[in-house]
Amino acid sequence: MHLLIVDDCGDTRRLIRRLLAGEGFTLISEAESAESAFARLGLEQPLCRPWPPVDLILLDIGLPGIDGVEACRRVKADARFADTLAVMVTARGDDDCLQKSFEAGAADYITKPIRRVELIARLRALRALKAEMDARRAREAELLRLKAALEQANQALARLAARDGLTGVANRRSFDANLLREWERARRSGRPLTLLLTDVDSFKAYNDDQGHQAGDTALITVAEALQQAAARSTDLVARYGGEEFAVILPETPPEAGHMMAERLRQWVSALHIPHACSPIAPWLTISIGVATLVPGPGDPPELLLEQADRALYQAKAAGRNRVVHFAEVSVNGKAIALACP
Ligand code: GH3
Ligand code: MG
Ligand code: MG
Repeated sequence: MHLLIVDDCGDTRRLIRRLLAGEGFTLISEAESAESAFARLGLEQPLCRPWPPVDLILLDIGLPGIDGVEACRRVKADARFADTLAVMVTARGDDDCLQKSFEAGAADYITKPIRRVELIARLRALRALKAEMDARRAREAELLRLKAALEQANQALARLAARDGLTGVANRRSFDANLLREWERARRSGRPLTLLLTDVDSFKAYNDDQGHQAGDTALITVAEALQQAAARSTDLVARYGGEEFAVILPETPPEAGHMMAERLRQWVSALHIPHACSPIAPWLTISIGVATLVPGPGDPPELLLEQADRALYQAKAAGRNRVVHFAEVSVNGKAIALACP
């Protein structure tokens, strides 16, 4: 514990020092005036903190210049010394000053002439109080640290819970939530929402030929390519299930959606992942069904999924490795013809 004795009388400072010998204060420093105490505390330098921190100040009330009461007020008004306990040293009958000292933030007082038994009893009690305050502060700091760590862990967990374990793209749960959100957004804005449903062609044969492990690696590579090709920050690539991926393209009209699907198809094809057993190409290919809707009143998002799924079925039936757009787009429930295939 660090004790600062502020008294203009050198004999008193020495007396206090002597009386406290063996009381376990690791550091006792002295100041002969409020001004030199302020300098020692760094009170005039807002960025400075005394080291080691001053735990207790014994403050003579009758200091020349700035008196003890004013000195106490200035020190305790500074947030850096909120945990520093000020003990006033007062002559008997100085009740008015004592009252003002407590109002200024003093923790206790001792009377002059200083008696060993009183000095030690008071300081021991204050040291116990200070130790309790320090322990509470440390607990609070530890709690804050734990809270921050918990928040970070929660965020990491939430991110993980939204990802597909194999490919790292959004998982089905995340896709469902996202589709619903974008569906409601499109309903409010009246802007078209496009959905792509992608399915790897002849993937069972790939697995049978290359093994399940190689199949997993191929799915990871395909997911990465889709993610890179659909690079707009609002686009969402998700693993819909098995070897199927879904891509949500907000504010995307049918023509742009079709172009994006074609881009994805070409990116995956350009990976040239060898697939000797494919009846379509010497490498892995995908088929894509595209649907675009502006949600009408009461339309569920399943409508978009159903249309994209039907388009995907058509793409498969027409020979795979191709993009098919659901042949209609509905604006506010009214079906209109679409120029795409
Ligand atoms: P199609 O062109 O009609 O889509 O034919 P397909 O063989 O791709 O379709 P099918 O539905 O018959 O087979 C899908 C295959 O995808 C079978 C399944 O084992 C494989 N598959 C699904 N999920 C995974 C996975 O996580 N890892 C691996 N390695 N294979 C998977
Ligand atoms: Mg499939
Ligand atoms: Mg397939």
